[in-house]
Amino acid sequence: MEPDVTIPFLDLKTINLRHRDALREAFERVLEGGWYIQGGELAAFESEFAALCGTDCAIGTSNGLDALHMILRGYGIGPGDEVIVPSNTFIATWLAVSQSGATPVPVEPVESTCNLDPERLAAAVTPRTRAIVPVHLYGQTADMDPILALARRHGLKVIEDAAQAHGALYRGRPAGSLGDAAAFSFYPGKNLGALGDAGAITTNDPELTERVRKLINYGSSIKYQHDLAGYNCRLDELQAAFLRVKLRHLEEENRTRRDIASRYLAGLAGTPLVLPVVSEGCLPVWHLFVVRTEARDDLRHYLGEQGIASQIHYPVPPHRQGAYAGSVLAAKSFPISERMHRQVLSLPMGPTMTPDDVERCIRVILDWSGKR
Ligand SMILES: *Cc1c(COP(=O)(O)O)cnc(C)c1O
Repeated sequence: MEPDVTIPFLDLKTINLRHRDALREAFERVLEGGWYIQGGELAAFESEFAALCGTDCAIGTSNGLDALHMILRGYGIGPGDEVIVPSNTFIATWLAVSQSGATPVPVEPVESTCNLDPERLAAAVTPRTRAIVPVHLYGQTADMDPILALARRHGLKVIEDAAQAHGALYRGRPAGSLGDAAAFSFYPGKNLGALGDAGAITTNDPELTERVRKLINYGSSIKYQHDLAGYNCRLDELQAAFLRVKLRHLEEENRTRRDIASRYLAGLAGTPLVLPVVSEGCLPVWHLFVVRTEARDDLRHYLGEQGIASQIHYPVPPHRQGAYAGSVLAAKSFPISERMHRQVLSLPMGPTMTPDDVERCIRVILDWSGKR
């Protein structure tokens, strides 16, 4: 085995350099257009992205966290309200709720999928609950039908955190169209990544659309008329133009990710690793390929020695972060989530990974498990 051959976790530079000419063209178009905020590139990207998600509207935002925050504000959710979130997620899901002034109410996941457990939801609903934010973690949609049914019974909004799920399907329907509204992130490392920060909101709700369009633009839809105390959370023309280029390749890149995932699943089937489970009716986009083992740190070290990068998503659950140190949440225990955070390891995954790279990762992992 060639020890100098390294497999990166995600080769962002190669991913973007593949589109060098088109990205340069997009840059020239914006530069020469002389219009940098809220222009034609944004409008075009919004309609192209809405088409992907099968929604009436997409609204570009500064990033995924702001997209979530603006949806919550758009629905008037704030102090005194409760919003149900997964106990295991990237902390931004919780931070958006906290920023709105509402209280995050964590609910534990299903072990096999790592996604919100619909069976545990009813017990978390109180008279103050206003919304549920399921996260489509690692690129597989949460089990939305029972979540939506419970939300309808209690009059709650369902806000998808689709930051990891661009193009994922649930019973044939795209992520972003499954709830009342959805937030996407185009952080460079996401399946659809900009060359900087960016995000979007998708929805079929015309009232929400009107409100968030104002909220992200100083509360204004007419210049110098401010109906709401708003924010500046816009997506700029340059990132919109780059995203239009990248969007054209999303489906093909997601297919490559699916191919890599099937190779991993077949090649690692006999190992003691807990492998990701694809739920019936779900077509994931494999933002991450996450295996689980109590020997996670040992495996990670072994892979590193063989030149294979890996990451942990996420090492510390949100309720154990300093950000929530002063809150009642810090004192609570979420054993399923805590165990996941201790066991998870994300293997290399991305559209520039070759079948040979995957084979090599599999061989090294088989080697590791043979030695134990
Ligand atoms: C990336 C991510 C976010 C935040 O998106 P940003 O664009 O980085 O603000 C929110 N939720 C989840 C699940 C994410 O993975």
